[in-house]
Amino acid sequence: MHSGLSAWGQSDPQRGTAILAEPLLNKGTAFTERERDILGIRPLLPPRVFTMAEQVQRSLGAVRRKQDNIEKYIYLTNLQNRNEMLFYRLVIDNIEEMVPLIYTPTVGEACLQYGSIYRRPRGLFITLRERGRIAEMLRLWPHEGARLIVVTDGERILGLGDLGALGMGIPVGKLSLYTACAGVHPYYTLPITLDVGTDTESLLNGPFYIGINEHRARGKTYDDFIEEFCQAVKEVFPRALLQWEDFGNANAFRLLRRYRSVLPCFNDDIQGTAAVALAGLIGALALKGGALSKQRVLFLGAGEAGTGIADLYTTAAMQEGLTQAQARANCWFLDTKGLVVRGRGDTLAEHKVPYAHDHPPVHTLIEAIRALRPTALIGVSGMPAAFTKEVVGTMTQINERPIIFALSNPTSKAECTAEQAYTWSRGRVVFASGSPFGPVQFEGRTFVPGQGNNIYIFPGVGLGALASEATEVTDEMFLAAARTLAGLVQKEDLEAGRIYPALTRIREVSLAIAAAVAQVAHERGIARVARPADLAEDIRGRMFQPDYPDYT
Ligand code: NAD
Repeated sequence: MHSGLSAWGQSDPQRGTAILAEPLLNKGTAFTERERDILGIRPLLPPRVFTMAEQVQRSLGAVRRKQDNIEKYIYLTNLQNRNEMLFYRLVIDNIEEMVPLIYTPTVGEACLQYGSIYRRPRGLFITLRERGRIAEMLRLWPHEGARLIVVTDGERILGLGDLGALGMGIPVGKLSLYTACAGVHPYYTLPITLDVGTDTESLLNGPFYIGINEHRARGKTYDDFIEEFCQAVKEVFPRALLQWEDFGNANAFRLLRRYRSVLPCFNDDIQGTAAVALAGLIGALALKGGALSKQRVLFLGAGEAGTGIADLYTTAAMQEGLTQAQARANCWFLDTKGLVVRGRGDTLAEHKVPYAHDHPPVHTLIEAIRALRPTALIGVSGMPAAFTKEVVGTMTQINERPIIFALSNPTSKAECTAEQAYTWSRGRVVFASGSPFGPVQFEGRTFVPGQGNNIYIFPGVGLGALASEATEVTDEMFLAAARTLAGLVQKEDLEAGRIYPALTRIREVSLAIAAAVAQVAHERGIARVARPADLAEDIRGRMFQPDYPDYT
């Protein structure tokens, strides 16, 4: 995957200031004495030569000295734009500290301020004005052959809503995670923002908004634009995998449905979330015992995340022998209008219909818990504090070990905190959250809450799909990813109540998932490359390592 770069980077190295300005080639103060002469940069650098390890220490100190997270984000972005190898070494070696700075929660604030943070091109903005020449725009990307594209239209950025062109922070951040967590080479990553306008009036009326000053395109205009974009991607980057990111609910499902067999693509908000939550359920059952097919799951929130999880649960339970109808009957949803039941009176969105079962109307969460007696409660509503003491208490009365996941992000939107879950259940809950919570002490025991973060899934899935050049990213791949992730949880994790592996193992996790995903591609005959003898070793050998090139 990186052979193109080594040829490009090493056989024809640029010289002088040009090399210092190229983030993938620049070594900053780590250029050796000989390299400084060969490349003609000796007097351009301060005389002392530093090692990369010393540079990492210096940068880490600089990050830690910044007062707030957005300042840290800006520092790290500048480092990435200046010296990309150093940036990735710093991130990989300090992954738990860096992920919240380069992605959620900080990236949300970064998007809000993207207009003032923006310094250098990193990715493509393609607007409605470029209709008819999107392929031409893609060809202007200066790197040859993008392999991994993350694209947003900015309509539903995290929990922040419609940020239009400011959403660019998301594909940029997500692709950095692909590189840091799964070793996808940064040269081949391409962030794209499709600017189709915004309906956020404060942006349209603001003097410094960076996007086009129009209301959001809908209907045929929007659909034609997306169609042209997808065809252009196929034409210009025929080997690329595309990830749909932070599209609004109404578009996310239908775009995935329409394009998943047109070009290799997936939607992390739907499918990645589903896999990480399912892995959490499997991990929870490893802790408390019981079969997946025997669970009754109640979801608070019936959007992309919730129905995506239920769809994947259904696929998994069918592998355990249930029919589709039986598996779906184990999943119940509560949305803003109460329990999703057949004949509720409103027109149900298409994705909710399979889960609208026969049941009398139920209006509140607590009533639903009493009526359905779920074994697991999953919060994907964006409704803070929805899991009250009474909710957690009732789940604990019904179950010896209730499974409660408060997945809404950011932390301020979580349905309950880790401390509340452990305290109100008197330490009996199996808990995971979307945002990170620190360890909780309860009656002399320490609980380490798991973070059901998609970061465990999408980098590995992407790497596996890229390595096998899969023509399609299938649900079976996400199921394989979920099972692989759950299988990597260790005894010590479970003993501390943690149902996900530590983030420090993320590259090992991503590699295992990539191999499982590639295996599915080969088994199903949708790989475009020959199967290597040892899939995991082959993929490991392709993973990007942030090591400086040797120019001598
Ligand atoms: P969405 O907008 O598609 O769906 C939200 C759903 O919640 C809708 O069905 C809505 O009707 C329902 N809802 C809102 N308020 C409610 C209330 N008071 N009571 C009952 N239902 C209510 O959003 P989504 O993409 O499904 O994401 C939902 C949440 O899940 C977000 O907060 C997001 O941050 C979180 N999420 C977490 C992860 C993760 O941790 N891995 C991944 C994706 C999404």
